[in-house]
Amino acid sequence: MRVNTLKRVVVAFALALPGAAIASVVAAPAAHADGCYTWQRNLYQGRSGDDVRQLQIRVAGWAGTGGIVRIDGVYGPQTAAAVRRFQAAYGLGGDGVAGPQTFNKLYQLQDNDCTPAHFSYTEMDGGCGQGGWSGGPLSATQTRSNAVRTMWKLEALRRSLGDQPLYVNSGFRSTACNRQIGGASDSQHLYGNAADLTSRTRSLCQIASNARNHGFSGIYGPGYPGHSTHVHADSRRENNNDRTSNTTSWSAPNCGVG
Ligand code: ZN
Repeated sequence: MRVNTLKRVVVAFALALPGAAIASVVAAPAAHADGCYTWQRNLYQGRSGDDVRQLQIRVAGWAGTGGIVRIDGVYGPQTAAAVRRFQAAYGLGGDGVAGPQTFNKLYQLQDNDCTPAHFSYTEMDGGCGQGGWSGGPLSATQTRSNAVRTMWKLEALRRSLGDQPLYVNSGFRSTACNRQIGGASDSQHLYGNAADLTSRTRSLCQIASNARNHGFSGIYGPGYPGHSTHVHADSRRENNNDRTSNTTSWSAPNCGVG
């Protein structure tokens, strides 16, 4: 969510300056202050930097069918296409350039703790109810940032399902928790890269099918053993810490989607 304090300060400051200075202040990049992150320039193909990286994290759920957006800080064709899909999904002009309208929509969707509006750290952590981000193979910091990336994809998936609530039954699991639950030893839940999903208004097959369009490379749903009551969605292709799962793996045989 946006806070307007900085904007008001800038306007007040501008009013106190002589004419020439006002022009330069007014022409400065959008002064929207956000509790999590504020972009300072327009972004488009060819640009690079941490601001591109921050954008990529937030549009990675708009990767298109079977696609992923690399979070590499380089605004390439995949990023432009994802921005275009994001813009179209929210009724903005889909030109693939991230400017004030796109950033304003992201500020609206973004909570001050950097999670998207409809998902929270609380529901993504502690698969066994213990809370916290430690006890997995990665540092707590890395795990938590993976969880943020997962949540932005979930926000996109939720939007594609008509803004219907999606519930996360199980997100991050520590190694001990994963063992206790009987999860796979290389489970993406260990990395903060996975969420087990349910909905009260959409079928599991709809979730499993739509998830293919939103940056998830591991998807298991109805018909896959152990997945009759939820859909598992993860980002295994982007997880460089796991040598064994660098490929897409989708299975929901009862849904007719393979
Ligand atoms: Zn799972």
